[in-house]
Amino acid sequence: MAETPQPLLPIGARADHVFPTLTAAQIGRIAPHGQVRPMSRGEILVQAGEPVVPFFVVTAGAIEVVRTAGDTETIVAVHGPGQFSGEVNMISGRRALFSSRVRESGTVIVLDRAEMVALVQNDAELSEILMRAFILRRVELVTSGMGDAVLIGSMHSPGTLRIKEFLTRNGHPYSYVDLDHESDVQAMLDHFHVAVTDIPVLICRGELVLRNPSNSEVAECLGFNEAIDQTHVRDLVIVGAGPAGLAAAVYGASEGLDVLVVESAAPGGQAGASSRIENYLGFPLGISGQELTGRAYSQAQKFGAQVTVAKKARALHCERNPFSIELEDGSTVAARTIIIATGASYRKLAVHDAARFEGAGLFYAATAMEAQLCRGEDVIVIGGGNSAGQAAVFLAQSARRVYVLVRGAGLAETMSSYLIRRIEQSPTIELRTRMEIVALEGGDRLEAVHWRNNQTTAVERRSVGHVFVMTGAEPATRWLADCVVLDEKGFVKTGTDLSRDELRVAGWPRTRGPHHLETSLPGVFAVGDVRSGNQKRVASAVGEGSTAIALVHQLLKEWTPAREPHVRSEGRLEQD
Ligand SMILES: Cc1cc2nc3c(=O)[nH]c(=O)nc-3n(C[C@H](O)[C@H](O)[C@H](O)COP(=O)(O)OP(=O)(O)OC[C@H]3O[C@@H](n4cnc5c(N)ncnc54)[C@H](O)[C@@H]3O)c2cc1C
Repeated sequence: MAETPQPLLPIGARADHVFPTLTAAQIGRIAPHGQVRPMSRGEILVQAGEPVVPFFVVTAGAIEVVRTAGDTETIVAVHGPGQFSGEVNMISGRRALFSSRVRESGTVIVLDRAEMVALVQNDAELSEILMRAFILRRVELVTSGMGDAVLIGSMHSPGTLRIKEFLTRNGHPYSYVDLDHESDVQAMLDHFHVAVTDIPVLICRGELVLRNPSNSEVAECLGFNEAIDQTHVRDLVIVGAGPAGLAAAVYGASEGLDVLVVESAAPGGQAGASSRIENYLGFPLGISGQELTGRAYSQAQKFGAQVTVAKKARALHCERNPFSIELEDGSTVAARTIIIATGASYRKLAVHDAARFEGAGLFYAATAMEAQLCRGEDVIVIGGGNSAGQAAVFLAQSARRVYVLVRGAGLAETMSSYLIRRIEQSPTIELRTRMEIVALEGGDRLEAVHWRNNQTTAVERRSVGHVFVMTGAEPATRWLADCVVLDEKGFVKTGTDLSRDELRVAGWPRTRGPHHLETSLPGVFAVGDVRSGNQKRVASAVGEGSTAIALVHQLLKEWTPAREPHVRSEGRLEQD
């Protein structure tokens, strides 16, 4: 076997943080939690793909982390005396990406995963050193495309882009082979008996070959959900791992609740797709949504929350408590309390290449930040509702010209009259009716649009580099059926927004009214974008997610199985 003599990680000046050396005092605090054992040169401590991965602190000798791909062996890292093994998988409980082998005989302190997680939760100094190293090691692996998965595809294939996004948003390292650019791909395809027409192809751990797999097949193949127990009744199940769900998971787990998060795609939600969030407290230079939510994901796992990905909630069974949530794969999870954090998806512009221009000329929000970007220039606002009206009036204060594009004959039926008046009175705003955008043009940024008059079918090209799509958001609430009261747009109503009539019809069974963030079903809360009246911002999602935990504690105190096998009363609202 060919061996790369030098370890590939770490890269750059962060070496001390990626591979720190613990002090004697720190090792002394770890030792009582584990077992000291000798190790001999050549011994395999962890096999790549092993589901249960122990944590090793080297006290004498050395361990090497080895990646094997076909006949080639690469040394990924070497841990000497005072150093320790592991990366993010240690916290998430996922399979080992690589093997660990003894390079020089010596001794190690061994902790199983539960002992290591308890250590991280209870020792602040060690937590900082270990978590930082785990996260930075994972970042280096992702950056250098070094993992246990190889994706073969083409940037022209939507399936390839979907899997790339899924792996990236799950923070999973993989190497990518592009059929259009790599000359020796055919040999690799032949080796695994796959045809070019099968792409995208994912090779997991050098063994399993998946042809155009769904996200849940990718998750299963790489063992993303293996460590999660779906059989016992949880204190809390959070549905949705956007900022609201992740905040609830961090606070819930850190306060001792048994928390499971169910996410249909990957952690991060809409925020995970934002290239730079500049209005979130504490990040004056902005932070990418992926980075912010990636950190929150690790933080939730550090406190013991379990997060199952690529599992969509299909139905809520709410007749009894514990509630039961049915997932798309047919399995169920049970919980005494539920937080609905499924968010909303903004209706996207249905035009080829729209995703490429998101954040680079194509926007789904019009805040001061976007307004600054198009100061003195022409902009287009698409939509005839109040959000489009507000955006147009707001942008007209700084833009040269604002075109408001609507498909219909006018605004009267869809927009409040005060906004219509302001639009009519503004010399900067021009309403274009029966109009829609049919194409976008540009390089790195949007440079021009093609719009079509739906009556005449005439298409015109306009050099406009800023388009605001304000065609509304759709809440992800179909899975709730009639378990909780929704507003006229399908968002979940909570707290004092629920009228006495609505509560009576819903069969509210308590003498008290619903708590703030509590739905028409006691013990079921809604937070973030999915909640009626929410501000649709990362900060409000995070605020509501964390606030809901205090209420969950209150509900769990109220809850006793003997007292409430049934959740609803027979349609009666008891008097306060
Ligand atoms: C492009 C873009 C840029 C933005 N930029 C900013 C910004 O700069 N600043 C700002 O404050 N806000 C910004 N926002 C808004 C912000 O991202 C949202 O307000 C925030 O993400 C809402 O968080 P949430 O957790 O409530 O919902 P979401 O982020 O929508 O997360 C909901 C999660 O639930 C999951 N889910 C849905 N249905 C199910 C189901 N049935 N089962 C399981 N899981 C499910 C989804 O996959 C998703 O991960 C932006 C939004 C977009 C789209």
